[in-house]
Amino acid sequence: MYKIMSAGPSEVRENVRMARSLPCTNPDFDPDFYTFYHQTCGKLERILHSDRHQALILGGEGILGLEAACASLTEPGDRVLVIDNGIFGKGFADFVRIYGGTPVLFHSDYHRAVDPEELRAFLENDHAFKYATVVHCDTPSGVLNDIEAISCLLDQFGIMTVADSVAASFGIPLDLSNSKIDILCGGSQKALSVPPGLTLLWVSRRAYETMENRKTPIAAFYANILNFRHYYENQWFPYTMPVSDINGLAQAVDNFLEDPDVFKRHKNIAEAVRTAVRKSGLSLYLDSDFADTVTVIRVPDGVTDEEILNDMMTKHGIIISGCFDVLKGKVVRIGHMGESCRVPLVRDTLRALQQVLESHGISLTCNLEEEFLAALKSC
Ligand SMILES: *Cc1c(COP(=O)(O)O)cnc(C)c1O
Repeated sequence: MYKIMSAGPSEVRENVRMARSLPCTNPDFDPDFYTFYHQTCGKLERILHSDRHQALILGGEGILGLEAACASLTEPGDRVLVIDNGIFGKGFADFVRIYGGTPVLFHSDYHRAVDPEELRAFLENDHAFKYATVVHCDTPSGVLNDIEAISCLLDQFGIMTVADSVAASFGIPLDLSNSKIDILCGGSQKALSVPPGLTLLWVSRRAYETMENRKTPIAAFYANILNFRHYYENQWFPYTMPVSDINGLAQAVDNFLEDPDVFKRHKNIAEAVRTAVRKSGLSLYLDSDFADTVTVIRVPDGVTDEEILNDMMTKHGIIISGCFDVLKGKVVRIGHMGESCRVPLVRDTLRALQQVLESHGISLTCNLEEEFLAALKSC
């Protein structure tokens, strides 16, 4: 068994695994299942402070939510603003294109958050967009964008917001009532610590109205969010719900609700990891605007990302992440989200990382584990 310290999936608590083994019902016919699903979604709405959004749980890994948002909103010829300050950010352009839209990219430095003032200047020149896409924590770099403020700015220009908070929600505070976000995407396998397999969506009334008022039908079935709007009144799901996955998710939602320190723990552990990494002479990928769910470290000269990941796994039983696309080979990533955001796990990971680097002839200027623990004490 490996310790999962990757940038998602994360560790899964035993009570979530147990909940996934509960007896199964027929979710299409059992009215209690509709009630259970509805109540679980109600908790998701309250967690993000929204009475203006309907939360949904879809059977399909996090990417389904991003695609469903674009499939359901995009009509052929629509201009869509794709806010690109990271790999997931840029990736939205593909979904927009697949559904016939025209993505227009707003580029911003990958080493820091989007500056709302730069975005405002861009929008003053051009704001003929149906909606915009933005990522909360862009996991490959670990950058955190202020999606509450960005959505409010976009709204001033009459633009709706689709936001990807798959790698931030449940680890970093987010208040939908302070935002103009129309569709928020979340996943099961990051800070909520449920195995991969589910998409979470929070869909505003305005987003539903936009879907209902389309001139052309939504060019998808599985990714058609509108099919879910009245599931509860109609006691009908567009497809059979994955009962066991949702049982596990509901337990994880309760775990989250019973843990008043969850955001504080993410913040303290993330800050302590960054302090230790800086002191050690290793370098962080970002200059500022760090998400507290993942730490992204540049691969030092003299070793490759593959050597680090491989040794971490085979010699220490710990899975951390490399990266892909423009960051391939350049960084390694430690996920400290959800159940992986625990002091003993992070401490073991840092100790192992130091041993791996030293075995490749890279000497650090401090003891990562000790600096981490010392930094935690001063939180
Ligand atoms: C993990 C993640 C997703 C879900 O996608 P996978 O790569 O399939 O795990 C979507 N957006 C972000 C920002 C993520 O970190």
